[in-house]
Amino acid sequence: MKFLISLLVIYSSSVFAHEFTVIDRQDNSIKTHYKKVKLEDLNSDTHFDGTYFKIVYKKSNEAIPFTADKSIVQRAANIYYHLTKAKDFWLNKNSSIFPQLTIRLDITNEFNEFGHYSNDNLDPQYNNALSVPEGVTPEWVPADKYDKWGKEIWFRPMKKVSTQDVINELGPNPITVALKQMQAPFINYTVNQFNQTLMNHAFYSSLTKNSLGKDFGRFLGTIALTYFVIEASKKMDPLFVEKWFYLDSSMVPEVIYHEYAHLILSDHLEMSHSTPVIEGYADYFAAIMSNKRKVYAKVPGHSNSNPKDPYNERHYSHMDELKASSDFVLAVLWDVRETLGAEVADQVIYESRKRLETKTATIHHHMIRAILDTCSEICPSPQVARLKLYETFRKRGF
Ligand SMILES: [Zn+2]
Repeated sequence: MKFLISLLVIYSSSVFAHEFTVIDRQDNSIKTHYKKVKLEDLNSDTHFDGTYFKIVYKKSNEAIPFTADKSIVQRAANIYYHLTKAKDFWLNKNSSIFPQLTIRLDITNEFNEFGHYSNDNLDPQYNNALSVPEGVTPEWVPADKYDKWGKEIWFRPMKKVSTQDVINELGPNPITVALKQMQAPFINYTVNQFNQTLMNHAFYSSLTKNSLGKDFGRFLGTIALTYFVIEASKKMDPLFVEKWFYLDSSMVPEVIYHEYAHLILSDHLEMSHSTPVIEGYADYFAAIMSNKRKVYAKVPGHSNSNPKDPYNERHYSHMDELKASSDFVLAVLWDVRETLGAEVADQVIYESRKRLETKTATIHHHMIRAILDTCSEICPSPQVARLKLYETFRKRGF
């Protein structure tokens, strides 16, 4: 049967294959290098229009031509190449994949669930990527504004942001103030809170004012930015913070894998919400797709974020449930991988999404339970495997 499926895939793929330069990590390192690759499954000889992905510019619905500006072509090719890798990865895991997805490059509009895009002038967005759910404009929207769209992935343009400006905007360094009032065990929580406040004010201020504010966390998905800020805040003195932040999300392979993972997982973990659990799952699959433990590491010239590393010693605290800490979820999932072995763990974690509720799934009460229950069902020696998992979770403080 599998043979038949691969035959069909080969048969249905197109004859066009074009060579482009893309960026990738080296085999055993997080360092990046440029390489020439052939883009597969293109249905066009002139445009980024393929069987699985169509790359468009901003709000356009036409595929980007190969003759576009050099930087646009490079980023479109990079997205196309890494999305193809992601698609193949999920196909190998027997997951169902999508027909042609629209991928938007350099779009600065906010997503609007009723109109696809918010007004052009409303708080343009940079340095990020997000996946958006399908939708259609409601009946009350005038006919000339009618729009219907499928699941999409959006890549924001890169913009250098002065960290000093961000910090100044906040007034007295809130982390210093907060730390004075709090005990040591709460530091992680404080850092996260600081981080969220900072992001709120500086990057996504409009989100806190409108109805999307509740889903604000979703935009933290590409958490490289978060990590940058966490690392910066550790030093607590603005003088030691890196001067600029920038992230060209289209050129960081794991960001592309992360967003595609959201689409795959969205049959159970909807894209309308973001929680530490949902983001942690997407991070986990981004890490294994990249074959690297660390994700979102610096890409010279395109991003100066610090990597997210699941090898941390953090223990669970109930504060993790209250504030975004997908990095903790990633660490726990990575523990599961080392306990069960890569193949079984990937399957258990993937299947466990079916036992999680998009809006309410917590780390402690739901994720751990979902993993244990899924393991009972599909682990080769479930009793032994579960005992090992209990021990793993215990060490993390559960
Ligand atoms: Zn995300």
